[in-house]
Amino acid sequence: MAPSWQRLGLYTCLLKRQLNDGPDVIKWGRRVIPGWSRGIYSATGEWTKEYTLQTRKDVEKWWHQRIKDQALTVSEADKSKPKFYVLSMFPYPSGKLHMGHVRVYTISDTIARFQKMRGMQVINPMGWDAFGLPAENAAIERNLHPESWTQSNIRHMRKQLDQLGLCFSWDREITTCLPDYYKWTQYLFIKLYEAGLAYQKEALVNWDPVDQTVLANEQVDEHGCSWRSGAKVEQKYLRQWFIKTTAYAKAMQDALAGLPEWYGIKGMQAHWIGDCVGCHLDFMLKVDGQVTGEKLSAYTATPEAVYGASHVAISPSHRLLHGHSPLKETFRKALVPGQDCLTPVTAVNMLTQQEVPVIILAKDDLEGSLDAKIGIPSTSLEDSALAQTLGLSYSEVIEATPDGTERLRGSAEFTGMKRQDAFLALTQKARRERVGGDVTSDRLKDWLVSRQRYWGTPIPVVHCPACGPVPVPLEDLPVTLPSITALTGRGGSPLASASEWVNCSCPRCKGAATRETDTMDTFVDSAWYYFRYTDPQNTQSPFSAALADYWMPVDLYIGGKEHAVMHLFYARFFSHFCHDQKMVKHREPFHKLLAQGLIKGQTFRLPSGQYLRREEVDLTGSDPVHANTGEKLEVSWEKMSKSKHNGVEPEDVVEQYGRDTVRLYVLFAAPPEKDILWDVKKSHGERSLVGCSPRGHKESHATEHAHMLNYMKHETGEDPACVKTRQAA
Ligand SMILES: [Zn+2]
Repeated sequence: MAPSWQRLGLYTCLLKRQLNDGPDVIKWGRRVIPGWSRGIYSATGEWTKEYTLQTRKDVEKWWHQRIKDQALTVSEADKSKPKFYVLSMFPYPSGKLHMGHVRVYTISDTIARFQKMRGMQVINPMGWDAFGLPAENAAIERNLHPESWTQSNIRHMRKQLDQLGLCFSWDREITTCLPDYYKWTQYLFIKLYEAGLAYQKEALVNWDPVDQTVLANEQVDEHGCSWRSGAKVEQKYLRQWFIKTTAYAKAMQDALAGLPEWYGIKGMQAHWIGDCVGCHLDFMLKVDGQVTGEKLSAYTATPEAVYGASHVAISPSHRLLHGHSPLKETFRKALVPGQDCLTPVTAVNMLTQQEVPVIILAKDDLEGSLDAKIGIPSTSLEDSALAQTLGLSYSEVIEATPDGTERLRGSAEFTGMKRQDAFLALTQKARRERVGGDVTSDRLKDWLVSRQRYWGTPIPVVHCPACGPVPVPLEDLPVTLPSITALTGRGGSPLASASEWVNCSCPRCKGAATRETDTMDTFVDSAWYYFRYTDPQNTQSPFSAALADYWMPVDLYIGGKEHAVMHLFYARFFSHFCHDQKMVKHREPFHKLLAQGLIKGQTFRLPSGQYLRREEVDLTGSDPVHANTGEKLEVSWEKMSKSKHNGVEPEDVVEQYGRDTVRLYVLFAAPPEKDILWDVKKSHGERSLVGCSPRGHKESHATEHAHMLNYMKHETGEDPACVKTRQAA
């Protein structure tokens, strides 16, 4: 189906140009659109007299395949043209498109079409974020395999997208649950591991004591109970895989300045990362002078003054007191609730070799989201007070010179340096020696990526009793998911039950070993998919540098605001990492962001809070009332949802109005960033959506129309109503 803009722009343009230079228009018009009448004359040879819904559908049907064919013929890379990469966030294959999908994909389709008309080389790819817990749960409920459920959903949704007339670059389709994709997710994981950016440590997980299984946050209800067993969920420490996102905190915080077209989202990213003023440093723990093998990482906002440390403080909820640490009992014995307690454990700073005592603090909340920090009396009054109370020894390491600059003393090689210089030198040295030193905030935590789930990318690591964790050699990738048919949702990681798959030989010493049975968070799959689209069939590497350098960065990335923080953060992290691995020239993956608004439906609620169905509401009076009881209702606009009975199905509205009308409506009913209020009264009945403005929305549709025009003008510096089709000229 012709995207509305093409037609609208074209007709306005033809009209204008007909007044000026007719012959040129005809030649041009013929090339672009054979038979440019609004009727269905081209197909029937008859002029229709009335413009009905059926006329519209006939026209749409006639155009459907033609537009798709046209989209296909321009998708080959012609590098003499400027490129434009428009990307909409790929969907989770739930099996059903909703109106939010219709909106986001209509916007990307329209922009792609528009940029093609401007003579750009455009890709507008589509794929499937296909791993994840919902498929696993659906499989358990329906007695299906997650793969067959996912694949049939993909087939159905691809058809639905096609019925909307969307012209995606289907030759670039990717599916994250297929081995030809997740092989490269595993490859990138190993690259992170080799760079010291993937590691294991104990962390809290939600534990269902009845089903004996780990639960995802979304499986814990608002009362803190398991979604299935109903048992009170416990917090339990388990060894988990992390990706060290804090290593890029400062680089990612600084790079935000170079993203002028991220608008509101930039502030949210900055807030998520926090002020990057300090770093973590690693400590080895000792008891009675004996090295224990236990390590501790602690934060300080003034690492330059670390030679003046008096102690390392941990919170009473720290994993060392609750997990499986060999020091747990020692710490517990030393703990006096409500008091700052000195423990017999000491911590050796792995950078300075200084040894200081470990303290358990009385308070549980340290700054930000920290659970361990370095006590430095020279730079903190609070630390100074604590050191005096507990009688800890320390030295002053900062002195002010007569000219007012602060310099270090008693700090080994950093002695005599200005504080700022010492900060840089010390953090750099720590990074070089891999004992911390990444400049980050007291807020950002590393990314916990392991899931005790089946339907995800297997973590490509083998555990060997002799060698410890060993990454699977790159040439042995992918580590494919074994086919497990009897998923129960109970017990530990489902992969642990596939004993033939689990038992393997160690890649290093060839001895008997076992595979890692955790899978990766689906956010890992979607953290690099935009790269894969640039080179989707590559069998030698995740993507070629040349193709990524040509297509990246994504010129326009469109998606929901709900992904403003996590997804965009992880995606930026992977891009920064790939840049440092010399896999791609650009550091930042997305040039411009468009966070599209929601489509909201009207909800009708009884005073009890119960949501009513449409047919239970009497809309004939001035205020909606309960059709049976006449009770007054609370009316509001909320995100469309089944439980609130305020949704519409894309298939129904397309059937009712025609696909072009629906697409045109979602484009101009509100500026793309704003919410659309889908009017119940007006969209019911025979009245066309086009020309009707959502109720409650103050602007006239002419103004809204102008919004979209302005938006596109702003995008390109050109007026879409007058753009020429350069490729056709
Ligand atoms: Zn081994």
